[in-house]
Amino acid sequence: MDTVTAPAYPDLFLFVDGQFIGIEGRKHQDVLNPATGQPVGKLPHATVEDMDHALLAAQRAFETWRRSSPVERSKVLRRAADLIRERAPEIAHGITLDMGKPYAEALAEVMGGAEHAEWHAEECRRIYGRVIPPRVDGVRQLVLREPIGVCAAFTPWNFPFNQAIRKVVAALGAGCTLVLKGPEDAPSAVVAIARIFVDAGLPAGCLNLVWGVPAEVSDHLIRSPIVRKISFTGSVPVGKQLAALAGSLMKRCTMELGGHSPAIIFDDADIERAADLLANMKYRNAGQVCVSPSRMYVQEAAYDRFVERFAQIASGLKVGSGLDKDTRMGPLAHQRRVPTMESFIDDADRRGGKVLVGGTKIDGAGNFFSPTVITDVPDDSKLMTQEPFGPVAPIVRFKAFDEVVKRANSLPYGLASYVFTRASRNATAMSNALEAGMVNINHFGIALSETPFGGVKDSGYGSEGGTETFDGYLVTKFVTALN
Ligand code: NAD
Repeated sequence: MDTVTAPAYPDLFLFVDGQFIGIEGRKHQDVLNPATGQPVGKLPHATVEDMDHALLAAQRAFETWRRSSPVERSKVLRRAADLIRERAPEIAHGITLDMGKPYAEALAEVMGGAEHAEWHAEECRRIYGRVIPPRVDGVRQLVLREPIGVCAAFTPWNFPFNQAIRKVVAALGAGCTLVLKGPEDAPSAVVAIARIFVDAGLPAGCLNLVWGVPAEVSDHLIRSPIVRKISFTGSVPVGKQLAALAGSLMKRCTMELGGHSPAIIFDDADIERAADLLANMKYRNAGQVCVSPSRMYVQEAAYDRFVERFAQIASGLKVGSGLDKDTRMGPLAHQRRVPTMESFIDDADRRGGKVLVGGTKIDGAGNFFSPTVITDVPDDSKLMTQEPFGPVAPIVRFKAFDEVVKRANSLPYGLASYVFTRASRNATAMSNALEAGMVNINHFGIALSETPFGGVKDSGYGSEGGTETFDGYLVTKFVTALN
């Protein structure tokens, strides 16, 4: 077996007011390698004093950072981008060890993070206000855009580097400071981000990193009067709880929540290409991707061809350790995701679904689950209505345009959607009809630094991509003056 030689898993720390703090004298938890079930590291939990220290440090740093010039902020972000590229191999190893994804996917994730840092370095220099012509001579009317203040950010384990760096560079670029709680299950990439910003010259207190019991940390940070903005990426139920708390305190939120993205394949599409692309996207990161195509609707005449090709790809995927160079799909990130996958499959099975490929945990150590394809599963089944967030793909038939639009829009989610067709009429009508924050037609083209990324309906609000990103981190001040 050709394997990647991984360096030792890094030590893990809190990062408060410019200081790295280890486990001594603090509660801590084991970080497990999902490919083996064995511990790889120990993660310290923040005490209440640590969190308060982080909040005060972020508040103090904000008074200086908010006044820094955009050019200065841009330089820090650019240096961070260079350091990300330099350190990408070691950061990617850490991700493969604590999160499980194949090393090549982890490396691509980290390199993509460098692009986010670079793009925000450029774009933060273009946060402009405007001048509105007055009604009365001698009056000046200015619209200023100011950083909102200290942000509390909560990032998930599925893209531990990417999700955190997006929030960090957007907040810092806008002139905000932040306290970040990363994913306790896959923390090494976020500790690496703190190191990168120290070396890029970010002043102490601008970025702080805490860990702990997620609900306790988020409750403490969101309730703090120091925090003015919350940014969360994770599940819909948790997002609703955090948004409710933030709303009761009148705090701004960006919410990047789950999805259950429909992929609609018309019979006029290039069916083989659609099946290849969708199968590869579906099993990327073992399906633990919020924009994964997770409900495949195929028009009747193309159904058998599509299913055959998709199933062929799924059954040929090599599942194994992310350190093995041949591996195409790693383990699920947590043991708890295994029974969740089984419950989707049991429900589909009870309701007449046909398991064409996979359907079971792979025997042995680690959270390995077979890439799974299920057909003929009813629309009201668990698999067709709840986000699977794993390597289980349902494929069903449809007859007509209006019918499939209704079925695609029937869920409360509205994150990504996919359409495959050669007819421009279908493409345009679908892009108008789908209730989703992002529509991909005939290709996968989302999650770039320069394009908006976000959902509608229960999938959340706000964007973490494109120039829209900064809107979440800025407030508007109107100044009117009579000379
Ligand atoms: P979960 O709902 O327990 O946790 C999801 C994420 O939120 C984790 O990173 C967790 O640490 C964090 N979290 C949980 N409770 C929190 C709280 N009260 N305050 C702050 N953070 C909190 O689910 P899980 O088993 O870890 O993940 C599976 C589900 O999470 C999936 O169904 C998927 O919808 C969702 N998820 C979505 C994304 C995304 O990119 N939108 C990423 C990861 C997970």
